[in-house]
Amino acid sequence: MTTTIIWFRRDLRLVDHPALTEAVQAAGPGGEVVALFCVDDHLWGPAGANRRAFLVGCLRALDESIGGRLVVRWGDPAAVVASVAAEVGAREVFVTGDFAPYGALRDERVAAVLREADRTLVRVGSPYAVAPGSVLNGSGLPYKVFTPFFKAWMSHGWAEALPAPGALQWAALSSEQWPVAAASAGHLPEPGEAAAWARANRFYGEPLAAYDEQRNHPGAEATSGLAPYLKWGCLHPRQLLAELGSSRAEAVFRSELGWREFYADVLHHRPDTVRSAFNPAMAGMEVDVVDTDGLFQAWCDGRTGFPIVDAGMRQLVAEGFMHNRVRMLVASFLVKDLHLDWTRGARFFMEHLTDGDVASNQHGWQWVAGTGTDASPYFRIFNPVTQGERFDPGGVYVRRWVPELAAVGDRYVHHPWDDPAGAPPGYPAPMVDHAEERVEALRRYAVTRGR
Ligand SMILES: Cc1cc2nc3c(=O)[nH]c(=O)nc-3n(C[C@H](O)[C@H](O)[C@H](O)COP(=O)(O)OP(=O)(O)OC[C@H]3O[C@@H](n4cnc5c(N)ncnc54)[C@H](O)[C@@H]3O)c2cc1C
Repeated sequence: MTTTIIWFRRDLRLVDHPALTEAVQAAGPGGEVVALFCVDDHLWGPAGANRRAFLVGCLRALDESIGGRLVVRWGDPAAVVASVAAEVGAREVFVTGDFAPYGALRDERVAAVLREADRTLVRVGSPYAVAPGSVLNGSGLPYKVFTPFFKAWMSHGWAEALPAPGALQWAALSSEQWPVAAASAGHLPEPGEAAAWARANRFYGEPLAAYDEQRNHPGAEATSGLAPYLKWGCLHPRQLLAELGSSRAEAVFRSELGWREFYADVLHHRPDTVRSAFNPAMAGMEVDVVDTDGLFQAWCDGRTGFPIVDAGMRQLVAEGFMHNRVRMLVASFLVKDLHLDWTRGARFFMEHLTDGDVASNQHGWQWVAGTGTDASPYFRIFNPVTQGERFDPGGVYVRRWVPELAAVGDRYVHHPWDDPAGAPPGYPAPMVDHAEERVEALRRYAVTRGR
């Protein structure tokens, strides 16, 4: 009897799973497949309560869908995978390719350890419609700008979605203790593959038709909310792309999925950009490092005194999620109003977001900070008041997350300090003067450019 292993990582589903399909084929009729998940401290350690809880939920859902046969082990993946392979005598371990810096190096290490025992790590597919590194320009170089990448990505095309593998025998192996989600986790989306499809079908049913017009309004809940499911591979982007038609709204949604692919491609070619500026000309911008803990903490706690910033940060901690427009605003506030290093904010996002993804997160931050690809020019500085008034005109979003604003009228809800009735009790005064900090941000930019 042949036994193969499918080592699940960011692909916690059964349908349209090329690596699983190949693991089943390699096991052959009468063979068995081990479903393995390894809890790696390198990834588990820095994750906050929301991320952990959502992941554990997805693992539970996967386990249930395979009759309780998910094998959970803890430790360094190189040691864990090699030991499970030896335990069951598997010659091949199948995985979905990982193209992010840590995952790619980890897989190299695991492959090397397996090779020593005459076993093979077989990488099949990727978490993307087009695997990072596949789309190159006419000179054979990676793209640095989204629009030409997107055109080339569209012409490259992608494979059709696969069905779930037919009947298969999951191996029965003992698990170590399952990871436990902390009680402090917030109100999170339902985890797992079935929940992902319930959400996708709901979005495709109606909100998608107005996506192009509504998606920038955080109070409208007009986006798909699929990012956490894409992050953990509860569904594959290929499946979402296959359902899209040619309306304007569908085209905009397709291009948002394209941004996810673009950033994965960029990070694949430039793994250093997890921490360093993509654009070297913007590296070394002066950031404040002394006595900034109080400022940073107020930002994390949603107590800056700017309603749209505070609403976003409170949503992040409470739901492990934040609307895209608001992600841009809170990031801009950290970098251009508080003059703090973008990597501090990016780390806080990664800790709390259920969809925290190193490529989209670091490059979303770099875009706002003006250091990245296609970057928003540094001198374009979001004004948290006018942005709030434009995208959350009735204050629906800020009132949802900042209850101190309940009694403030629409006119002042984004700048309650101007309310003639007085500042709302319990809500902080604005921690900085945006106009002054804007001038300071531009001064630093001029110094960087002049170097
Ligand atoms: C500072 C900052 C940090 C971010 N961190 C992350 C992150 O860690 N993980 C993450 O998935 N996205 C991140 N994004 C991108 C974006 O904010 C989220 O993908 C989006 O808000 C998720 O909500 P949704 O699923 O409802 O999106 P929808 O609007 O429904 O979009 C559909 C899908 O397209 C992709 N997408 C949409 N916008 C972007 C974008 N700008 N960049 C990359 N992919 C995009 C996502 O996979 C998303 O689920 C970040 C953006 C910024 C500005």
